[in-house]
Formats: sequence, structure tokens, C-alpha cells
Amino acid sequence: MHREPLLSFTPKGIYCSRADVYIDPHRPVHRALITHGHSDHAIAGHQYYLCTQLTAAILRYRLGSFYQIQTHDFGIPLDINGVRFSFHPAGHIPGSAQVRVAYRDEIWVVTGDYKTEADALCENYELVPCHHLVTESTFALPVYQWQPQPVILGEILDWYQKNQEQGKSTLLLAYALGKSQRLIHLIPPEIPVYTQGSVEQTTDILRKAGLKLRKTIPLSSRLTKKEIQKGITLTPASEINNPWVRSLISPVTATVSGWMTLNTIRKNQAANHGFALSDHVDWTSLNQVVRACGARKIWVTHGYTEAYSKWLKTLGYEAEAVREGYRFEANRSAENQERAGED
Ligand SMILES: [Zn+2]
Ligand SMILES: [Zn+2]
Repeated sequence: MHREPLLSFTPKGIYCSRADVYIDPHRPVHRALITHGHSDHAIAGHQYYLCTQLTAAILRYRLGSFYQIQTHDFGIPLDINGVRFSFHPAGHIPGSAQVRVAYRDEIWVVTGDYKTEADALCENYELVPCHHLVTESTFALPVYQWQPQPVILGEILDWYQKNQEQGKSTLLLAYALGKSQRLIHLIPPEIPVYTQGSVEQTTDILRKAGLKLRKTIPLSSRLTKKEIQKGITLTPASEINNPWVRSLISPVTATVSGWMTLNTIRKNQAANHGFALSDHVDWTSLNQVVRACGARKIWVTHGYTEAYSKWLKTLGYEAEAVREGYRFEANRSAENQERAGED
């Protein structure tokens, strides 16, 4: 007997009609399960939100506390109209979840954004076996292969050391939610970390929600330029042309993002140094997940959907690119993604 698919891709987003629930919808809906707090996954205007505890703290901060936001722990099943939902760690940013959806003998997993490398801060990614995998494909090209985190950290610290020797101020450009906290956690405690406003606020929200993070020092006029020069300053890239940056002692900047892979390859570091530290799966890890989860069908969203689904077909998988038209924002250029924190 033909049965309607458990999940479908609608103009409002990924939908489970049997439970009347959306996952990361990009238009306002009645009930939304949210994988994580980045703005392209969690918009304002839903009636009810369901997410993990850290994501809820982020949403209350970002969207306002008047929203009905309920929390649900990782790994605990929740039945909605006979459909069993559960959150599983996605390893993308603190609190980020994959959503497992099970009905009778059919299991779907929606990854949201994810990365498989443990970063010592996020809950470690969990491989969830399924029949249908809905995976992101932000970096689904063979050129994107990440170096292990300790290697990138070593490069960042070497660069900082060189800047110290030359009397320069070190600024890392990083998205306020996710990448900044990862860096705060990685930078050795003897190096002071100075934080721009939105980085400090986001970090503070996560600390209050229970995330253990070392001390940071909010930038303020009470600090001397010499103090700031001795440490590492974290700021979103959008601040780079603001006067406070130029007022520092010989400021030098580096973007921390998976997109920096291409900069490194081209040695195009004239304007901006970069470190390819990403919160997403790289090419190799993505293919490993596809193999290991055992899915018979792969739905590719969010990135190189066409190219990656074609590649999977050559390997013999049943694969489909989820049309970008289903998404609210059609333009997924690297620049926009960085602005949205998709790095
Ligand atoms: Zn994200
Ligand atoms: Zn995303």
C-alpha cells in the first residue's frame, strides 16, 4: 500500500504531516522543532518552539522571551500523534541537534548543520542509523578537507606569537554564535581574550545556560590599547571597518571559517589572513556519515545540493537535491553564508 512519505519538503520547510510539525521552518508555523540557534534555522514568528536547552537560551536571547519555547533533552523520545521524535547531538555549535523521526518501521534523520570532529566544547556528534538521511551539504566538494583542530589551533597561535613579536594587535574574525565560543575554549588561558559586544553577549547567554567557558574580557574604553595588543580579540567580520578596530595598535585580522580553505590554496592573503576551522562536516566526513548511517535514500539540502546528489548517484545511492526554491532565501553565496554564520 502506498504511504505518504514521513517527511516532505514544503514552501515553509521540512514537514511531518502526520504530526503536524516542521523542522527548522523558514516561514512562521504552528509547531517547529529547531536544530540550533543560527538565524537561517531559527526564525521568529512560530507559535511553539521545541529545542534543546542551550538552543532555547539562544532563541530567547535572539528572538525574545515572549515566545513559547519548550526544551527537550538529547536522546529522549517524544511522541506526537504516534510519530516518535528525538534530538541527537550534531556537534555543530553548543546545543545543536539532529532530529530523528520514526514512525512504524521507517526512520528519518534531519542533520541540521553538523560536524563529526569532536571540538571539546559541543556535545559530540552522534551517528544515528536511518533509512532516509536529510543532510546539509555546505562544504560538499572534495576541495573541502579540514585539518584536525589541533593543527589549526597551532597555526593560529604561531600567527599570534608572530604578531606579539612585531608589536601588532591580533584580531580573529569569527561568527558570534558558535565559532567564537569554540575559539574562546581553545585559546590557552594565559592569553587574554577580548570580546566585541555581540561575542560577549552570546558567550554570556551560553555561560548562564550552563556552558563552561574560560574568562573573557569585554572590550571597553577602560582597557588600554597596550593591554588589548597583548591578547587576542574576537569580533564578527562585520566590525572590521569600524573605527575601534583601526584605533588599536597595528591591528591585523584573520577570518576563522571553512571558506578560508580557498584563500589558503590560492595563497590570497593580501587583504586578510585566514584559518580554515569549520563547524560543518568536510567532504570526507560527509561521505563517511552517508555510508555509516545505512540510509537507502539521501536528501541533500543547504549548499552544494545538485553536485553532491549527483555524486551520490554515481556511487549507487538513491539521492535527491532538495530544491533551493523551498528555502526562504535563495541566495546561498559564500559571503551570505558567512554572514549567516554558516561556516
Ligand atoms: Zn548553523
Ligand atoms: Zn545552516
